[in-house]
Amino acid sequence: MVVTRFAPSPTGYLHIGGLRTALYSYLWARKCGGKFLLRIEDTDLKRNSKEAADAIVEAFKWVGLSHDEEIYYQSLRFDIYKKYVQQLLDEGKAYYCYMSTQEKEELYEKQKANKERTRYDGRYRDFNGTPPAGVEPVVRIKAPLSGEISFVDGVKGEVKFNVQDLLDDFVIARADGTPLYNFVVTIDDALMGVTDVIRGDDHLSNTPKQMVIYEALGFKIPKFYHVPMILNPQGKKLSKRDGAMDVMEYKKMGYLPEALLNFLIRLGWSHGDQEIFSLSEMQEFFDPNDINKSASAYNAQKLEWINTQYIKSLPTKRLIDVLKEYGTDLSEFEKAEDLVNLLKDRAKDMNEFSLMASSILNTPKEYDEQAVTKFLNKESLELLSAYNEVLKASGDLISTQDFEIKAKELLEMQGKKLKDLAQPIRIAMVGNAVSPSVFDVLSVVGYKNVIQRIDNLLDRSK
Ligand code: GLU
Repeated sequence: MVVTRFAPSPTGYLHIGGLRTALYSYLWARKCGGKFLLRIEDTDLKRNSKEAADAIVEAFKWVGLSHDEEIYYQSLRFDIYKKYVQQLLDEGKAYYCYMSTQEKEELYEKQKANKERTRYDGRYRDFNGTPPAGVEPVVRIKAPLSGEISFVDGVKGEVKFNVQDLLDDFVIARADGTPLYNFVVTIDDALMGVTDVIRGDDHLSNTPKQMVIYEALGFKIPKFYHVPMILNPQGKKLSKRDGAMDVMEYKKMGYLPEALLNFLIRLGWSHGDQEIFSLSEMQEFFDPNDINKSASAYNAQKLEWINTQYIKSLPTKRLIDVLKEYGTDLSEFEKAEDLVNLLKDRAKDMNEFSLMASSILNTPKEYDEQAVTKFLNKESLELLSAYNEVLKASGDLISTQDFEIKAKELLEMQGKKLKDLAQPIRIAMVGNAVSPSVFDVLSVVGYKNVIQRIDNLLDRSK
C-alpha cells in the first residue's frame, strides 16, 4: 500500500510551497487507495511553537485535504527515538563522541586553513578508553567513509552523492539526549510505513543521511520525489511580496481553496494543456513521476483567473457556505440561490462577491455621492416615484419579467428610455449605480423591499 505524508515544521505558517507538496502527497495516496498522513515535526523546541502548529492544522482544514489517522506530533515521540538511538549504540552502529566545542572549533579551523570541507574526523569512532571528564557526549552514527550513495529519485532520476563531499559521522542525538532532525524523520517515515516521500528539493542533501539511518536500522528505504522550488516570475526565490505567504492570507484575499489547489497542482505538473481540474480529475491524472524537473514560476494573474473560473462554476450551495465565511449570511434568505447566480459571473474574488451580495441583501444605509449627483434630479426622481406607484398598484410581483414589463409600460407612456430609470433604481436598491441587470436585482430584492427601498431614497431626496 502506498503511504505518503506531509511533515511540516511549525517554525512558521503553512506556505504555498508546503501546501503544494502536501497536495501532491495527498493525491498520490488517494489515487493509489493508500494513506496520507499529517505529521508535525516539532522537535526543535526552541524554534517551534504551538500556535504555528495549530495554524498549520487550521490551514489544512481550510483547503480540505483530509488526512488519515491522528495527527502525529514528533514532540510526543521522544521515547521512541531514544529507543532507536540506544539500539544503534548497542549494535555498535553509533557511538558517543566526547569532542568538546573547543576541540571542534580547532578541528574546523585547521580544515579551513587547508581549504578542506569542515567535517568531523571520526576521532571517537573506535574509542574505548576512559571518557574525558566534564563533557556530555553527543551520539554520532557510523556513516560510510568513502564511496557513493545513490538512489533513483522519481523526479530527478538517478542522484549520486560522493560520501567524501557530503557525509561524516553526523550527530543523531544531542548531549541532552534529544534526537536530531534527520534521525526523527527517518524513524517516523519507517515506523509509519511511508512508502513514498514527496518533498521540496531543498531536502535533497538530507536524503543520503537519512539513507544511512535507514540502512543502519535495517528499514526499507522509501521512494523519494524531490520537487523543484516555486520561483518568482524573475526566476528568483519566491518572496513574501511574490506570494510566498501564509496560505490563510489567500483566504483573506478572497481565494477559494479549490482554486488555490488547482493553481498549485499546475505549478510543476501538467496534463496536456488542461488548466482547470476538479479534485477527482487531479486524483485521476496526477502521478508524481510526471512532476517537472525544472522549477516553476509563480503567476499571480493565473491564480486570479483560476479563482474567477471556480467562482463561476462552483455549486451554488457551496458558494452560499463560503459567503458566510466572508460575512454574508444567506441562510435565511429565500432567494439566496438567485442572488448567488446573479453575481457569480461578476465577482473577481470572494471579498468582492460578499460585498456585492450584501449590498443586494441589505437596505442601503447610505448612497454613493457621485452616483447621486450624476443620476438623481427632479425628473429622474419623478420617474422613479411613478414607477414605485405602478408597483404599489400592481400587487405582488415576483419574476424579473414582471418588474421589466411594468417598467417598459411606464417608460413608453412617458416617452422615456430605460437608462433614465435604471440608474435611479440601482441607487435605490444598492446605494450606487453598479449592479447586475436591474430587473434581476429587483426580483431578488423582492417586491416589498423594492418598494421600501425606493421610498427610502425618495424620502431622503425630498
Ligand atoms: N519538516 C520538513 C520541513 O518542514 C519536511 C521534512 C520532509 O518532508 O522530509 O521542511
